[in-house]
Amino acid sequence: MRSLVDARAEVLAALPRLGDEVVAIGDALNRITAVDVVSGVSVPPFANSAMDGFAIIASDLTDAPVELVIVEDVPAGTVPKEVVRSGTAIRIMTGAPMPEGADAVAQVEITSMVDDDTVLIAEPVASGAAVRHAGGDVRPGDIVVHAGVRLTPRHMATIASVAGHVRVSRFPTVAVMSTGDEIVPADTVALSPGTIRDTNRVMLVGLLAEMGVPVVDLGIVGDDDQQLRHAFAEAASIADIVVSTGGVSMGDHDYVKQVLGERGSVHFWKVAMQPAKPFAFGDIDGVPLFGLPGNPVSTFVAFEQFVRPGILHMMGAQSILRPRVMGTMGEDVTTSADKEVFVRVLLADDGGRSVAVKSGGQGSNVLSALAGADAFAVVPVGTEAVSAGDDVILEMFRSPENRGPDD
Ligand code: AMP
Ligand code: MG
Repeated sequence: MRSLVDARAEVLAALPRLGDEVVAIGDALNRITAVDVVSGVSVPPFANSAMDGFAIIASDLTDAPVELVIVEDVPAGTVPKEVVRSGTAIRIMTGAPMPEGADAVAQVEITSMVDDDTVLIAEPVASGAAVRHAGGDVRPGDIVVHAGVRLTPRHMATIASVAGHVRVSRFPTVAVMSTGDEIVPADTVALSPGTIRDTNRVMLVGLLAEMGVPVVDLGIVGDDDQQLRHAFAEAASIADIVVSTGGVSMGDHDYVKQVLGERGSVHFWKVAMQPAKPFAFGDIDGVPLFGLPGNPVSTFVAFEQFVRPGILHMMGAQSILRPRVMGTMGEDVTTSADKEVFVRVLLADDGGRSVAVKSGGQGSNVLSALAGADAFAVVPVGTEAVSAGDDVILEMFRSPENRGPDD
């Protein structure tokens, strides 16, 4: 058996780096920046008001309350024509450009109208109050988002403040298939004896959709060398990555092995992890192939540990692995010492620390306990039991990646 860390390192090293392209910033969700995004402009682009109120000269208000003559109204989106001189004010809205002459904004809450053209300002304000200066957020030459970052709506908005487009990695097209003579489509109404619904493909398509990655769904392929040969060839011709489930454990792997051996090199590994010990990795016609084990929880764990990190790595992402934090085990758990075990757990809060209990049955076929799980409690190789109250590593598979390949 090889360790998970070694297996993943081998996978990552074998994956090609995808090229890049320029996309509209509105289309950049989940893309990975290909280069540092450097601003060519200032944000804000011009000094503007942070409040609705009156642009004034702060030194006019030293003896407030004072009355000032209103010389202009400046809503957002317009440009002041007048200049603020001592004894005058310009009514200004949030985001409107600061008029010349003014050095502060008196917010509307400390003002009252004397008549249509005169405002009473009740209190002094400091010079610079409620003014947002040009370049106060970003200056020309600043890096607004570094290369290798997966773009969230927050990053997209930040980039949109300086540019309408961004250079990002291409998305890979991922072909997905389920294998197994017993597997029937999930919308099958009445199962015939010995068959089960295809859960893996539904999960994989959803996991890839969450990443924003284009998917080609190749359906279910029977345990038949002709069908497998045809499906793998088609997958490799249209996709950048092929993900299959089933047929990689002892007993059936010779079969898939033979077919795959004809057009690439695929290695069947036993990885020291549970679930998802059997795992196949290699290429078909040069296209990377991930052969995930068929048990649905194994499929999920293998996707988390190999496929998502692999895709992110191909896209040049810096962070490819989910966050790990320390928590407390809330019950006794026995695991196998020779494997890194991913226990599906529910988390409860105990004074700011997460306490983990099993979310249900830990069989690699038990999807019901995966659906509601909050995290994996990760029990490392060399540990065969964790007791209630012990520290435990929690891998937060619902949180965005924050670890690099070597963390
Ligand atoms: P395999 O890896 O092909 O030996 O399959 C291991 C177990 O996972 C068997 O019980 C299969 O019936 C089950 N399995 C394989 N593929 C799927 C699938 N797509 N959906 C649900 N269960 C599956
Ligand atoms: Mg099978």
